[in-house]
Amino acid sequence: MMAAKDKGLLIVVSGPSGAGKGTICDAMRRDFPEIGYSISMTTRPPRPGEIDGVNYRFTDNAHFEALLAADAFLEYAKVYDHYYGTPKDFVFRRLDEGRHVMLEIDIQGAMQVQEKYPEAVLIFILPPSLAVLEQRLRDRRTDSDEVICKRLAKARGELDWIRRYDYVIINDDLQRAVCQADAILTAECRKTSRNDNTITAVLKQYTRGE
Ligand code: 5GP
Repeated sequence: MMAAKDKGLLIVVSGPSGAGKGTICDAMRRDFPEIGYSISMTTRPPRPGEIDGVNYRFTDNAHFEALLAADAFLEYAKVYDHYYGTPKDFVFRRLDEGRHVMLEIDIQGAMQVQEKYPEAVLIFILPPSLAVLEQRLRDRRTDSDEVICKRLAKARGELDWIRRYDYVIINDDLQRAVCQADAILTAECRKTSRNDNTITAVLKQYTRGE
């Protein structure tokens, strides 16, 4: 009989927009191709170049609230007046299949995931300073001054939450930040507590003398 699979890893990544979260998450997925990326649902309008079903699943308030009432989200948050949420089905199906899932979500959402699924691995990505963050946001040229101010104020307010995360990565050098993220995933995957079924199967072979 085939041994039961151990569950995949639920990886939660947060950090202010402009911290380099997206780039680091892309690199982790390149280095660990078995990671699946949960596509969030949002009521925020698409930015130029964003594609429905790729960047987000874009929807309206009524549909989002109906799904919320049906308990369809693992977590959700209202950020800058728009809803964002992680549909539950995809995440749990994949974890049960022994595959990893990555969520790139804000702190409110990360805390809900930690509460509901304590085995999740929470990583916070920080820019080296608020000044660098502001410069990165301005260089992106995607947000108005008002939105940039809101994002900076939010980043400042979020700093108190970092200690609730399992890991922090300071992104002053992208390559080093990616190495650190990869090291975290490698170590987490090797934890005995995450490999119970695998260990049982191997030990059975040992006792059979194979
Ligand atoms: P943006 O509008 O810049 O794409 O995202 C704004 C914020 O919403 C970011 O901090 C992003 O991480 C967060 N976010 C994106 N998707 C989700 C989600 O499904 N749940 C939660 N809680 N936050 C999300």
